[in-house]
Amino acid sequence: KLNSLNNLKQRKTVTKDKKRVMLSANIGTHNDATTALKNGAEGIGLYRTEFLYMNSDRLPTEDEQFQSYKTVLQRMKNKPVIIRTLDIGGDKQLPYMQMPKEDNPFLGYRAIRFSLNKEDIFRTQLRALLRASNYGDLSIIFPMVSTLGEFRAAKSIYNEERQKMINQNQPVGKIKIGIMVEVPSAAILADQFAKEVDLMSIGTNDLIQYTMAADRGNNYVANLYQPYHPAVLRLIKHVIDACHHEHKPARMCGEMASDPIAMPILLGMGLDEFSMSSSSILKIRSLMKKLDTNKMAKLATKVVHSANTSEDVIEMVKSMVSFQY
Ligand code: PEP
Ligand code: MG
Repeated sequence: KLNSLNNLKQRKTVTKDKKRVMLSANIGTHNDATTALKNGAEGIGLYRTEFLYMNSDRLPTEDEQFQSYKTVLQRMKNKPVIIRTLDIGGDKQLPYMQMPKEDNPFLGYRAIRFSLNKEDIFRTQLRALLRASNYGDLSIIFPMVSTLGEFRAAKSIYNEERQKMINQNQPVGKIKIGIMVEVPSAAILADQFAKEVDLMSIGTNDLIQYTMAADRGNNYVANLYQPYHPAVLRLIKHVIDACHHEHKPARMCGEMASDPIAMPILLGMGLDEFSMSSSSILKIRSLMKKLDTNKMAKLATKVVHSANTSEDVIEMVKSMVSFQY
C-alpha cells in the first residue's frame, strides 16, 4: 500500500477519465516546503506566514521575511507558490503586540483588517514578498477579505511598494494578487471579485464557521460546523463557477479539500486546485485516480439541487463513488 502511494510521488494528478487536477500543500514554515515536495506536492497553495510573526518575541524584519519567502520559492523551483499575508487576530495573537480586547474576536480585528490598519507592518511584508518574487512563481493572497474596497486598498498599497522598488532600480518579478474567499460576503460577490483579482482560494475552515455561525473551535456548537451542509456546498459552487466564468482556475486551501467525502463533490464542481496538508496529498491523488469527473459532476448537481441535510449529502456521495470509506 505504502509502496503504491510512493509510486505516485512524481506523478501528475489525473482522474480516471484523465482530467488534470493540481494538488498542492499548505505550509506554516519555510522548512515545510521540503516535506511538501517529499509528499508529491505540485505547488504551495497556502503559506500561512503568521507563524513567522508568532514564533518570535518581536516583529520579523523585512530581511528575515525575505529569506523565508525566498527559501520556499527556491525549494519549489518554478512550481507555483501562494503566500498569504499576515492572518493575525481571532485566536492567533502576537505576544509582543498590544491587541484590543474584543467580545467577538473572530468577527473582529483580524487579518487584512489588521494589515490595513497597521500599514507599516503590512508594507514591510509586501516589500519582503516583492524582493522574493525574483526567485520563483509567486502569488500573494489577502486573508479575510469581506469587501472589494479592502482588496482595492490592499492592492494599491502593494502597487505603491512595487513602484518604489522599480524607481530604485530593484528587480521585481511578476506577481499575481488575489484573495482568500472565507467570508460569506466575498463568496456571494465572487462574480465581482473574480473580475478584479488574479486568483482566489476558498478557505473553507473559516467559510464554514461564518456561513453556519458556528465557531470552528467550540465543542458546544461542533454539531453545527458542517462542511457538507448544502448551504456551504451551494456557496462553494457559486465561487467555483465565478472563477470559471472569468477563465480563472478555482482553488481551495481549507481542510475540506482533503476530505474524502467532500473531494468527489468538489471534483464534480470543477475545482482545479486542491491545497492540503502534505501528509494527505498521496492518498488524495490515489483516490482521484478512481473517480470519473462526468459522474462526479452528476453527483455535484444532485447534491446542490436536492440535498436538504449533510446526511443526505454523505449518502449521495457514498452511493456514487467507487471506493470504500
Ligand atoms: C481557512 O480558513 O480555510 C484557511 C485555510 O485559513 P486558516 O485555516 O489559516 O484560517
Ligand atoms: Mg482562514
